[in-house]
Amino acid sequence: MTFEQKDNRQSCPCPKCKSGNVVIYRKVAKCQNESCGLTVWRSIAKKELTDGQLTDLLMNGKTALIKGFISSKTGNTFEAAVKFDADYKTVFEFPPNKGGSKKRRTK
Ligand SMILES: [Zn+2]
Repeated sequence: MTFEQKDNRQSCPCPKCKSGNVVIYRKVAKCQNESCGLTVWRSIAKKELTDGQLTDLLMNGKTALIKGFISSKTGNTFEAAVKFDADYKTVFEFPPNKGGSKKRRTK
């Protein structure tokens, strides 16, 4: 008997090399293709991403807005989306300021 899902690990296609599979482990998501080396840490700014958020990042290139990150500089909490930069490192994408934007009227 073989049970492949005993660890209940999720995996999805790798956005970087396109041929490998990214397997989501407890602390990290990692591409199985050794020459690719895509690695995404689950813990970002003192927040642990969920499997769903990691999958969003891998499948769509970015997550939805996530609340509860903590800045290492100021200690303040903030919200941001997580996305890949050109090197497939994780970076924050902050929501646009709603307060300061000009309203455009449509005719
Ligand atoms: Zn890969």
